[in-house]
Amino acid sequence: MRRKLAAGNWKMNGISAGLTELQSLAATHADADVDILICPPATLLHRAAEIAQDTSIRIGGQDCHANAAGAHTGDISAQMLGDAGATAVIVGHSERREDHDERNEDVRAKAKAAIDAGLTAVICLGESLAQREAANTLDIIAGQMSGSIPDLATGENVVIAYEPIWAIGTGKVPTLEQIGEVHDFIRARLERRFGEGVGRSVRLLYGGSVKPGNAADIFAVPNVDGALVGGASLKAADFSPIISALETS
Ligand code: PEP
Repeated sequence: MRRKLAAGNWKMNGISAGLTELQSLAATHADADVDILICPPATLLHRAAEIAQDTSIRIGGQDCHANAAGAHTGDISAQMLGDAGATAVIVGHSERREDHDERNEDVRAKAKAAIDAGLTAVICLGESLAQREAANTLDIIAGQMSGSIPDLATGENVVIAYEPIWAIGTGKVPTLEQIGEVHDFIRARLERRFGEGVGRSVRLLYGGSVKPGNAADIFAVPNVDGALVGGASLKAADFSPIISALETS
């Protein structure tokens, strides 16, 4: 049985005042039936982890460096994230792939660094609009999976987030059939590469314009084990009904 996961990616949003949203979320979901992960900006990690202590919420980073330490000004290692209280880190988000020219091999190295540091790597995959329109979605996903997921992946140390780039922050969402097709494809490939045990234990999140109004339908799609949520994770009033929809799915 895969435990469901509602993950929130605050991106480059949030200063100290925003932590009240986390407090509110923790109070509303004190006995959550699903895992809840909030990934605030690095500047808030430590305080967020303090707030989340002894609650059902876990805290994650949004990126990490592939090396454990060294001369990399401005970067943060997975070990540092763990030291600040994170238990997970997002790697390979499309905004990192685009803004920082991160390639599959970079994402794989970061995921490995995260796992080595004891964190869960939330590995993001997803096609562009042009790739979908050219009917290349499954080939792109296959390439990203081979290139970005390290060989040591298990259901405990890796989560996969399918995030079509054209759906992120746009209000556009794939059809439920399209989501189901990609999630089934990812599941089948995981089982083929890692065997049925590991392949069936890795959680698959959908990400891209998940809102309170569409969450329940998306969570009813087979092989969707939760969501990675951007904009709607910033306010407890928006994220809370998404968590509740996941709990009842
Ligand atoms: C994301 O950035 O991972 C994301 C899914 O964003 P949004 O929910 O705002 O589309």
